[in-house]
Amino acid sequence: MAKGETLGRKLVAERAGGQCEIAIPRLCTIRPHEWSHRKNRSQGGSWAASNGAHACHACHVWLTEHPQAAYANGWLVRQAYDQTAIPFRLRQTRLVLLDDAGEYLPASLRVMADLDNPQSGRMVSAITRKNRKELP
Ligand SMILES: [Zn+2]
Repeated sequence: MAKGETLGRKLVAERAGGQCEIAIPRLCTIRPHEWSHRKNRSQGGSWAASNGAHACHACHVWLTEHPQAAYANGWLVRQAYDQTAIPFRLRQTRLVLLDDAGEYLPASLRVMADLDNPQSGRMVSAITRKNRKELP
């Protein structure tokens, strides 16, 4: 097993409380049994709790088939970014940050300010709105 995998899986499973953290409407089977990497292993993604989502198989497959929406919602994170600083849309509701201790942190005011920055944020919001329409 890869370095940190056992601990990462344990922390993420406990954080999720037995429920899928993605929750694509009308698709999610709720009960999760898969680790979904935010940064793929092939891109150097680790087993840190911040890099994983507890996902049901249906949502996990959906993420791989809809990468644009997955990136816009923080379910996938591009290699160049720090996954602990990228908001994660938890079960289609609030945005949270994921830390390596297996906790949800409120997306900070700084992050929210970044999201409002015309240089980055409105674009992110527009992408998010656009991709939300792709949700089934
Ligand atoms: Zn699901």
